[in-house]
Formats: sequence, C-alpha cells, structure tokens
Amino acid sequence: MTYRAPVEEHLFVLDVIGELTALGHLDVFAHVDRELASNVLIEVAKLAEDEFYPLNRVGDAEGVTFQNGHVSLPPGSVEAYRKWIEGGWNGIEAPIAAGGFGLPLTLSALVQEQIFSANVAFSQIISLTAGAARAIAAHGSEALRSTYLPKLISGAWSGTMNLTESGAGSDVGALKTSASAAGDGTYRITGEKIFITFGEHDATENIIHLVLARIKGAEAGTGGLSLFIVPKYLVSDDQKILERNDVRCTGIEHKLGMHGSATCSLAYGDQDRCVGYLVGEPHAGIRAMFTMMNHARISVGLQGVGLSEIAYQKAARYARERTQSRPIGGGPTAVRIIEHPDVRRMLMIMRAQVEASRALAIYNSHLIDRSEIAGAHRDDRLTLRAELLTPCTKAYSTDVALQVSSLAIQVFGGIGFIEEAGVAQHFRDSRILPIYEGTNGIQALDLVRRKIRLAEGHVVEEMVRDIASSLSDWQSTELLEEGRARLAGALAVFEEATRYMLESSPSDSASGATAYLKIFSLLTCGWLMGRQAFAASARLGSGEISDDFLRAKIATAKFFLTQILPEVDALRSSALVGSNMIFSVGEDQFPQ
Ligand SMILES: Cc1cc2nc3c(=O)[nH]c(=O)nc-3n(C[C@H](O)[C@H](O)[C@H](O)COP(=O)(O)OP(=O)(O)OC[C@H]3O[C@@H](n4cnc5c(N)ncnc54)[C@H](O)[C@@H]3O)c2cc1C
Repeated sequence: MTYRAPVEEHLFVLDVIGELTALGHLDVFAHVDRELASNVLIEVAKLAEDEFYPLNRVGDAEGVTFQNGHVSLPPGSVEAYRKWIEGGWNGIEAPIAAGGFGLPLTLSALVQEQIFSANVAFSQIISLTAGAARAIAAHGSEALRSTYLPKLISGAWSGTMNLTESGAGSDVGALKTSASAAGDGTYRITGEKIFITFGEHDATENIIHLVLARIKGAEAGTGGLSLFIVPKYLVSDDQKILERNDVRCTGIEHKLGMHGSATCSLAYGDQDRCVGYLVGEPHAGIRAMFTMMNHARISVGLQGVGLSEIAYQKAARYARERTQSRPIGGGPTAVRIIEHPDVRRMLMIMRAQVEASRALAIYNSHLIDRSEIAGAHRDDRLTLRAELLTPCTKAYSTDVALQVSSLAIQVFGGIGFIEEAGVAQHFRDSRILPIYEGTNGIQALDLVRRKIRLAEGHVVEEMVRDIASSLSDWQSTELLEEGRARLAGALAVFEEATRYMLESSPSDSASGATAYLKIFSLLTCGWLMGRQAFAASARLGSGEISDDFLRAKIATAKFFLTQILPEVDALRSSALVGSNMIFSVGEDQFPQ
C-alpha cells in the first residue's frame, strides 16, 4: 500500500488555520505565498512518497546496527537523506540570511507531517537538526552560529538533543553530566546520556550534540544547568573537520518500534578531553534548551498527525477492497467492508481525529510564527497562546495517533495484526510518542501548573473569549446547529474545569490534569474544525477547490463536533476528581 500526501487538505488548512496570507504580510515572510507553498508541498510529497516511504518497511525490518561504536542506518537511508539535502530541503525553516528558505513553521509543519507519514523513524534526523539549529541561532554566540549553523542548515551535519540520563528522565534537573571550565573559554564534559535519538549514525560527516550539563559548583536542579555544543568531530572556524572529540556511542536500544532510528547511549569524557562550547549564559541552559524542546514538542505532535494520516489512509484503502459479510439491510452477496456501519464509524473517527489534530498543530505553528517576529508586528499575546497550546499539540496529537493506528488495525481485522499487512508498524511506532519529549502526563502538569497561569490567567481568558465570539458569529446560520451547541457546552465545561485547576490544591489539580488537557484540546480542535466548516461553506461553488472536498470537510467537522467533542462531558468528572479518589486505595493494596 502506498502513501499519498494529502496536498489539497494541506493547502486548505494552511489557508484557513495557518492564515498563510496574513503571514505573507509580515516582512519576514513577504516572499511566501500560496503558489510557493503549493510548490513546496507538491515537491516534498514526491520525495516522501517515492523515496522515504519505500524505506519505511525496510527500516522497520532491518533496523540500525551497532558495531565497535559505529552505527549504520538501514539500507537506503543514507541515500534518501542525501536526496533530501541535495534538494536543499533541510533549510526549509531556517532564515534566508543563514542559507535557508526562510519559510514559516506553519508550512514547514506540513512538510514535516508528510515525511513523518512516509517514514517517521528516519525523518527524526531532519526535525532534530532543525531544532538544534534553532537553539544555536537563538542562543549561540556569533562564533558558534557561524561555525555550526551553515552545515546544520544544509544538512551536511546533523543535530541531537541530549537530556536524558538513567537517573534523570522526567526530572531533568536530576542529571549528573558535568562541565568544567578548561581555561581557554571551552569546557570539558564528563558523563553519560541514554536514549539519544540519532546520537550516532553514518548519514552525515559530523554530529552536533546539544548537551545539558552542570558546571561544577552550580546549584542543584534545572537552575544549575548549562547548554553545550559537543561536536562528534572538532571543527575549525571555517568548518573543516579536525580530530575526533571524546564522545562515543556505547550502544543502541532494541525497541518496540521506530527501528529505523538509532536510540543511542553516549559517554562523554572517558579520556577527560571531551570539548564542549557553552551556548548562551552559564546556568541558563534549560531556557536555551527549551527553544529546541518546544520545537521538538510541535514536531512530536506532527509525528502523531503523520502516523495517524498514514494509518487512516491504509485503513480506508483496505476497507474499500476487502469484501466480507452481506449488508446489514440484507442482500444477495458479501459487500466491501467500507459499506458496514461499524467500519464506516471507525473510518469517520479516524478521519475526524486526523483533521482535528492537524488543525491544532498548524494553529500552534501559526502562533509560533507570529511570536517569533520582532518589531512592530509582534503580538506577545500570540506568543503566550502558542506556549499555552504546545502541551496540547504534543499530548493530544500523540494520544490520537495511538487511537487511530489501533483503529486501523481493527479495520484490517486479523490481517492487521500480521506484520506483512504493514499497519501494525504504525501502531508500534506510535507508542513512543506519548512518552518522549516530556511524557503526556508531564505535558498535562505543565498545562495546569504553568501555562494556564500565564499572564495571571489572561491568556486562557482571551482564548475563551475568542471561542465565545466565534460561537456568537455562527449563531446566524444553521450550518453547525448541533455542533455549535456542543461547542458551547464544551466551553462551559472548560471554564468550570479551569477555575478548579486554578483554585484547587496542587495535588487535586495534578490528579485531574490529564483529563483537563484533553478537555482543552477537544475544545480547541472543535473550534478549529468549526472554523474550517464555515470557511469550506463560504468557498462552495467558487471553483477554487473541489466542492466534494469542501462538503466532506463540512461533514467531518460536524462529525467531530457532535460525535467526538461530547467526550468532554465524561472527562469533566475526571478533571474534577480530586486526589482523595485517586489515592483512595492504599499503596499496599497494589501488587508488590
Ligand atoms: C525511542 C526513544 C527516543 C528518545 N530520544 C531522546 C532524545 O533524543 N534525547 C533525550 O534527551 N531523551 C530521549 N528519550 C528519553 C525520553 O525523553 C524519556 O524516556 C522521557 O522523558 C521519560 O523519562 P523516563 O523514561 O525516565 O521515565 P520517568 O521519568 O521515570 O517516568 C515514568 C512514568 O512516571 C511519570 N512521572 C514521572 N515524573 C512524574 C511527575 N512529576 N508527575 C507525574 N508523573 C510523573 C511519567 O509520566 C511516566 O509515566 C528517548 C526515549 C526513547 C524511548
């Protein structure tokens, strides 16, 4: 079965939710218009469909190999990566001045979705490198920027994100990797990290690790962390490769999924000569790393959208072909399973969740694009709204990927459980998404403890006002009558749950945080689906885009609002549960 990039849908979302035309009015994106976006999406789609996707099964079946500290990617990966960088695609979102295309994240997000659908394991090398470049561009000195950015942007070198240690996962502040000043402006790094994605591989001539470490004597916790560039090979100022740095890969993991990506353990400073270059100020590392982590959180959300999309495509194609059972109303012969209501129900849930989670990620990306602009056009309210929604994009879209890829297997029936059918891999690959880049539980805590309190709660209040304003605009037509009522109901639940989160004890709010994040995500998705329905309705008959597509968009939005959004009502009691209920069974009653 093939992957076909949903370019028509991507252009529609880019237009309606990504507001590409409005972005094009900003100086920094003045070169971006619909034609350019369309060309980019069509060209990347070819690479994704013809080069990345055929390697997806190969990567899963053959995996990466580790020998004597070297990691080899599965057959074909290095060649596919070369095609990607030779096309110049690696610099898609990097500033033009630094050798990139200077395209908005909103557009790059859809590019990421395409390559994640086609081959999520392999494509992580691309998104991690873009994130590392962002962090260096935002926090690195002029010398670091000129040494490392050109090759990261071209893709000649790749980037990694090094936080996790065996004793420091969710609690990054517990990490033990240390740094000591060498007296020449550089540092010597000592320690070990685990689970570092693409920490070693054979696709690029150098690997630039962004490493969180504690300068000796610095305070405990995240406040004492600093960020360092630790290159695999030391380089000259004019980017010539010099000697090997004292960082080495000590092993790779054997995983449930994502077999095409190397998950590495790294040791720094075995010979006390691991050179690190400080990025930004000492002890301000967590802030600098957050530039990369926030980028990665949106990317992981997009991995969710990409995996949901490919699983949905496969299920729909299979359901059109597989003949089984006579129709429910009676008939002489068996029909294709797409005709059975229960299969159609599953396909509609998948379709609605794919479109909703995509809209959420694109809206979040649009806000980030608007946030990163300095000067007169900058709108700080949008910056804070982007921060507010980032945990939702990461957690909701990745939970959806698990649901959708599991439903895809259900649509296939027994053959879905058999690896040859090719859909089980998407379920296995999806399983890591709610875990890495901050587990979804940690995202929910971030939402209730920090994000909804931004600007003393005004960021949430403004979001509520915007949704309420859409509801009142939509009152004058019958397009979404029931959906509108459902959205109003969800908004009321969200307001009640928000008050609870702000006023209850830390333990009570933490007990309901995951349910609260889901309520907020469903509400936001419902709002964005409603906006798309109205935009689609306004374009009907215009000839700009096919009426069939527009009618399907309206129907899918109605389905989301009336069949999926009502889950909010059940989630209300989980959000307001309080810790007494959660801790009502004593610890000694759990298996020992
Ligand atoms: C394939 C793969 C790739 C990875 N890539 C990278 C990478 O490139 N770079 C990198 O630095 N790391 C990477 N990681 C590590 C990943 O980010 C961590 O596994 C993740 O952050 C969770 O940490 P942990 O595994 O130690 O789990 P733990 O932190 O031990 O968490 C276990 C459980 O406890 C919960 N929990 C922990 N603390 C709290 C709390 N305060 N409140 C509520 N619940 C809590 C968690 O939500 C989780 O359910 C990768 C991991 C894998 C498996």
